[in-house]
Amino acid sequence: MKLQVMPSSFESDGSASLRQHLPCIVIDDRLAVDAGSLAFACSDDQRTAIRDIVISHAHLDHIAGLPSFVDDNFTSLDGPIRVHGTGELLRALSDHVFNDVIYPRFTEIENDRGPVLEFIEFSIGRSFAAAGYEIQPIAVEHLGPSAGFIISDEHTAVAISGDMSATDEFWSVVEDRDDVAAIFTECSFPDALADLALRSGHLTPATLAGQIGRLPPDAPPVFVVNIKPMYRESVVRELAESEMRVEVALPGRIYEF
Ligand SMILES: [Zn+2]
Repeated sequence: MKLQVMPSSFESDGSASLRQHLPCIVIDDRLAVDAGSLAFACSDDQRTAIRDIVISHAHLDHIAGLPSFVDDNFTSLDGPIRVHGTGELLRALSDHVFNDVIYPRFTEIENDRGPVLEFIEFSIGRSFAAAGYEIQPIAVEHLGPSAGFIISDEHTAVAISGDMSATDEFWSVVEDRDDVAAIFTECSFPDALADLALRSGHLTPATLAGQIGRLPPDAPPVFVVNIKPMYRESVVRELAESEMRVEVALPGRIYEF
């Protein structure tokens, strides 16, 4: 399984910026988990191949690249782009994004060959299939309903937190499975902003340490994503100074498991 943390922007030399404003992970060039930077960072091949997008929650930074992704693909689609989300997420997209005010209601507009956007509801705790993967959604603590995921193919699995504060359930579900090869977790804020992190439903290095501490020594490797760009330096330093075995994932890099 090939996993790419999509960049949110690029430096003047074309390299991926480390500043990650818009969460989006692409798996094997054909499944997107969150759509923050999807339309802005995907390759032409990914734009053509990705037809399933799993969304963790409705916050703008996780859906920002979705409208343009549908728009970019509109004329070439032979079938709809499928957006997988909870009922709350799909309602939020219908009511607040694809509502003919903020953006066209693409669920009701067809190209020459048929529908271009389909919403598919999943239930937390009930695994579903998308793009050839089995996806297990886990409820995580955040502002409003939010999901983390374990995504598996016939060989391996990865766990992705989405946005979350301390959520024992996420780590125990990961621990209960014997096929998870890597965990991608958020860690948005430095410890000095612990109150803000708690209020906004995010982790800091200290709260992440509290969660990871429960994992056994042979647990899969943990990669940190979604660090708020303004605090990246402090978060990376605090993670390095901690006893945790974590690696900060680099936008643009492809990780294979
Ligand atoms: Zn969020």
